[in-house]
Amino acid sequence: MNTSANSSSNRTPLIAGNWKMNMDHVQGSSLLQHLAEALSEAKHDYDRVEVAVFPPFTSLSAVQTLIQDDGLGLVSGGQDLSPFDSGAYTGDVSGRFLARLGCKYVLVGHSERRTIHGETDEILNAKVKAAYRQALTPVLCVGEGLDIRRAGTHVQHTLAQLRASVDGLTTDQAAGLVVAYEPVWAIGTGEVAGPEDAQEMCGAIRAELAGLFGQDVAPKTRLLYGGSVKASNAPSMLHETDVDGVLVGGASLDADEFASIAGFERQLAG
Ligand code: PEP
Repeated sequence: MNTSANSSSNRTPLIAGNWKMNMDHVQGSSLLQHLAEALSEAKHDYDRVEVAVFPPFTSLSAVQTLIQDDGLGLVSGGQDLSPFDSGAYTGDVSGRFLARLGCKYVLVGHSERRTIHGETDEILNAKVKAAYRQALTPVLCVGEGLDIRRAGTHVQHTLAQLRASVDGLTTDQAAGLVVAYEPVWAIGTGEVAGPEDAQEMCGAIRAELAGLFGQDVAPKTRLLYGGSVKASNAPSMLHETDVDGVLVGGASLDADEFASIAGFERQLAG
């Protein structure tokens, strides 16, 4: 078990909600208020389990204003960023703008960005570096499609994505990084990988990071599982040694469900 209650790990669990292209700024404000209320009713300890939301760009300002004005313990992040800091890149959003809004995190390389927008590992490496230039923490998403899973080469495939995306990072950057293992076949499909699948990959990712950045760095990097996570399956995922959190899509749009996921420790204790 990898919660802050466990002395074997100092990694604070991260429960991250990817709203994708849902929730305009009015809906997003309402969802955030409901989420904050649900977490407050559950007496959520944000220092113990971090909770982050990733609204669409146009909702970020409203969400971030609520977080700041109401002194909420939640944090926010962007769903993507440009590899560049400014300039003639129509439609792109700079990490500098996200940082200025008060975002802490930014998703990099979600499978929908890789598939729909053709983002390569080289582009994602540039995006990870762009995030660090603005003191944002990248949540780097990696994972295999169903064909690769069936071929049994999912570990090699995912580690190759990881290596290419973290190329050139400093040891401090690697230690602060968040990596989300998201098997593409389990995203938005209702198909959930088993806890042993999540542990197999997260263990392999941590071992790879140890090889790349050192044995003292890899234990600090937080690793998430993502793919059809709900309140009912989150505790078993988070029970695994190398799973330090979850990246949640669909279920993060339901404030009570997402708050229950964030309260996974109660279910593990009960
Ligand atoms: C995601 O979009 O990152 C995700 C994991 O989605 P879902 O939880 O809906 O599978």
